[in-house]
Amino acid sequence: MSIPFECKTDKLKFNSLIDDLKEIGSTLPDSRTGSNGQYTMKDAALSAFSVFFTQSPSFLGFQRDMERRKGKNNGSSFFGVVNIPTDAEIRNLMDPVAPHPFFSLFVQTFEHLVGVGALDKYRTAQGKLLVSLDGVYYFSSEKIHCEQCRTQTHKNGTITYSHVALATAVMGVKQSVVFPLPPEFLTPQDGHDKQDSEIAAASRWLKAYAPLCKAYDIILLADDIFCHDPFCKLLMKAGIEFIFTCKPDSHQTLYEWVKDFERMGNTEHLTTKMWNGKQHLISEYKIARQVPLRNTDDALLVNFFECRVYCEETGKDLHHNAFATPIDVSVETVEDYTIQARTRWKIENENNNTLKNQGYHLTHNFGHGTKFLSMTLLTLNLLAFLYHGVLTLMDANYQLVRDELGTRETFFNDVKALTRYHYFESFQELLAFMMKGLEIDSSQKINARSQSQSL
Ligand SMILES: [Zn+2]
Repeated sequence: MSIPFECKTDKLKFNSLIDDLKEIGSTLPDSRTGSNGQYTMKDAALSAFSVFFTQSPSFLGFQRDMERRKGKNNGSSFFGVVNIPTDAEIRNLMDPVAPHPFFSLFVQTFEHLVGVGALDKYRTAQGKLLVSLDGVYYFSSEKIHCEQCRTQTHKNGTITYSHVALATAVMGVKQSVVFPLPPEFLTPQDGHDKQDSEIAAASRWLKAYAPLCKAYDIILLADDIFCHDPFCKLLMKAGIEFIFTCKPDSHQTLYEWVKDFERMGNTEHLTTKMWNGKQHLISEYKIARQVPLRNTDDALLVNFFECRVYCEETGKDLHHNAFATPIDVSVETVEDYTIQARTRWKIENENNNTLKNQGYHLTHNFGHGTKFLSMTLLTLNLLAFLYHGVLTLMDANYQLVRDELGTRETFFNDVKALTRYHYFESFQELLAFMMKGLEIDSSQKINARSQSQSL
């Protein structure tokens, strides 16, 4: 893990992040018609978020018990919940709320991270930031469904309901923490007979965030499905660079052109060899410039690069990937761009794991809802994941405790148990208590900071 550095802005401290969420919570539309306003929309949003942040489906139940016993609770001291609603009340209050009001929190957190230089080490040699796009299938049922579910009718008449989100995240080649940007959801679209597609969702995402991508020198990384002529043209028009996986089956014309270029001696090549301690790995790179992406006269011309890695001793292929990009890749830079392109797989390990496993599991705590609940809870879950990432990078105490406890699971199990039995004035007080119990002294903290400053 990297060493945290002193947070240079209050805007990325835990309390400020929660204040940002409170601000959005207080603007949420309240669809109740009567005067049954015991719980505010803000309390509902903060309560749902607290479950994801603490990774504990029982957090709210424990805090209600504590409130009865002690007249105070950690839901209030950590997250500012005034009255803790029941799970059913959270579901009823949050179901009519679309996820979009929370998206600005992802953007402003990203901008603060850039502002304090926390993402400098995420930049490529060319000074760019890598953002991955990926469609994630995160819910499936034959019974439970809502207005936003995708539907698939089978031959026997049964219907499968599902949800897919387009997940996006900032990632660095050598960084283990990824930072989600706002997601986009695949939902039934007005006026379209067909189901929503990942490309259509990506186009909507682009419409909303193209200025952000442009302003922060973002390169988009994505799978073959996004390496689609009209979508790539949209990106070119918006002035946004991309490196997309480009497979032979879906890009036959492009591969034929590459073959022709190679025959005519118009491709560039690089071969490298490295010893990994057990065997020699040979990497063979091929570059073809200005190749049409599809078989039409107006096809976009892209630069193509391919990397095949195999074992010299056995001849066995280890990786074989190819990419399309508008970037001017050369034999000097092709290794670097290949590493950048492969960074995308991090989103599958880091970000999508949260969406698929933790998100799926925890939404069951509140139910699926009939309108937006499933999507809004997923957004709050992603927000908790983002805030954990911010604390990992910016809060020395948080990182020291996490490092000491080893696994994520141990940390959150301890948080769950401690917050059940003990009242803490703040989240910082909980971290201080854990540090004291684990005998992490402040000199470690000072060492960590001075090392970081000398880097
Ligand atoms: Zn649904």
